[in-house]
Amino acid sequence: MEAIFDEAGKLAAEVLAPLNKTGDQDGAKLADGVVTTSPGFKDAYAQYRDAGWNAVPFDPNYGGQGLPYAIAFPVQEMWQSANMSFGLCPLLNQGAVEAINHHGSDDQKNTYLPKLISGEWTGTMNLTEPQAGSDLGLIRTKAAPQADGSYAITGQKIFITYGEHDMADNIIHLVLGRIDGAPDDVKGISLFIVPKILENGSRNTVECIGLEHKLGIHGSPTCTMDFDGAKGELVGTAHEGLRYMFTMMNNARLSVGLQGVAIAERATQKALEYAHDRVQGKSLSTGARAPIEEHADVKRMLLTMKALTQAGRMLTYEAALALDSGDKGKVEFMTPIVKSWCTDNAVEVASLGVQVHGGMGFIEETGAAQFYRDARILPIYEGTNGIQAADLAFRKMQRDQGAEALKYITEMEPYLPLEYAQGLKDLVTHICKATPEEAAASATPLLKAFGIAAGGAMMARAAQAAQRLAQDEFTAEKIRLAEFYRLNILPLALAHIKIAIDGPAPII
Ligand SMILES: Cc1cc2nc3c(=O)[nH]c(=O)nc-3n(C[C@H](O)[C@H](O)[C@H](O)COP(=O)(O)OP(=O)(O)OC[C@H]3O[C@@H](n4cnc5c(N)ncnc54)[C@H](O)[C@@H]3O)c2cc1C
Repeated sequence: MEAIFDEAGKLAAEVLAPLNKTGDQDGAKLADGVVTTSPGFKDAYAQYRDAGWNAVPFDPNYGGQGLPYAIAFPVQEMWQSANMSFGLCPLLNQGAVEAINHHGSDDQKNTYLPKLISGEWTGTMNLTEPQAGSDLGLIRTKAAPQADGSYAITGQKIFITYGEHDMADNIIHLVLGRIDGAPDDVKGISLFIVPKILENGSRNTVECIGLEHKLGIHGSPTCTMDFDGAKGELVGTAHEGLRYMFTMMNNARLSVGLQGVAIAERATQKALEYAHDRVQGKSLSTGARAPIEEHADVKRMLLTMKALTQAGRMLTYEAALALDSGDKGKVEFMTPIVKSWCTDNAVEVASLGVQVHGGMGFIEETGAAQFYRDARILPIYEGTNGIQAADLAFRKMQRDQGAEALKYITEMEPYLPLEYAQGLKDLVTHICKATPEEAAASATPLLKAFGIAAGGAMMARAAQAAQRLAQDEFTAEKIRLAEFYRLNILPLALAHIKIAIDGPAPII
């Protein structure tokens, strides 16, 4: 594991990280349907691909390395920390691989998986349309059956990450569409594979017709894609597309949570460095001018950044372990929490990073501002955090009458002060009895309560584990951080429990 992490760390630090700022300043460009990625990205991708990094978690039957997610996640965290715009390409590719691996035919697996796994080709996820974002039941893209068994796909997709680029020979689009005559709602949606370059080497009729100008992640091309009767293959059975797409989305949602951890880590490292060097104000103990890292309020900010980042990391890795052990119930329960809590924290941590830098944080030169701008997409894509909260309240709690939630609370209980576990149990009972309107209004504070409590349990567990391992600086730091979390962050869980129970009336 150490050898893998060391090598990944080198590529991330030496190749990807230096392209983060240039990617922000000189992002992807579109001319005549061709997207040219930011200078250096193409070469960096070649290095990443040739070293075999793309294959880490995938099925060895198709060229993958078959390593567990518990190893793949820390590796991926490094790409995302170094350069989130770059890291998005493999992130979406991973979702495409999972969708084809789970739901594709043997033929489709043999045709697409080896190249998507090696990274020779990349995969995309084409869901969103101008009128269909959170509500995919409104999708209009059409799929007309053809005599040869294929489908002609026609429609427009927006916001497609790496929908077009110059880093790979082919791009395999996974597209949601509606077969002629299919029901109008989510039950009429099917999933198609639409390659940019067809098997016979000809160009399919799918084109990037626009690139978005964005608040952040400028290095990641966000494409408007036009499908003009493009040749597509049905994945699995007709009308099951949304279910299949969830395979892809669930995987990607955990990875987006991981992006949150990654960018929070980067923002924290930057702030620690700045706070160490910047001298301002006098130390209350010595009276001498001091680096700002010695002021209590700056310490509070830095500890908050570290604690939220570490708690989020442990939660995300815990989900990776559950993925590896096949604990589907736990993964499904944790997914909206990891996605939302870690990404909301990313925005907060990146914002604190700007604050630690003072005026310089607002100036682009330091890079702190870029982390803040880049982080802001995370609570929005892969299902907004509001949609994640609704998923937690309805699908993950009301549907099984709190069974999985209570199991999870039992796991956390030994690491939490008494009132927290009891508060969460009461909240689960409350949500299970709530009307749909009440549950919807409670959803976000419900998710926050679980995220904060789960993070606190992780911090306490980590401190105990560190204590068992050694009595050194590392252990002392873990204990201090867990204590900081317990006294400065964890109490917010009780506030959110109260808000989730008492708050809905004026909302509904
Ligand atoms: C940079 C970027 C990259 C992206 N990459 C991709 C990609 O690769 N592939 C792809 O298919 N899409 C992609 N997207 C699209 C993204 O997933 C959507 O923007 C997102 O799901 C939200 O949809 P929307 O923008 O239509 O917002 P809307 O659905 O209009 O939501 C607006 C607000 O209303 C809330 N809301 C909506 N419905 C409900 C509800 N039922 N209950 C409660 N609240 C609700 C939302 O939470 C949000 O706050 C990307 C977007 C961006 C900006």
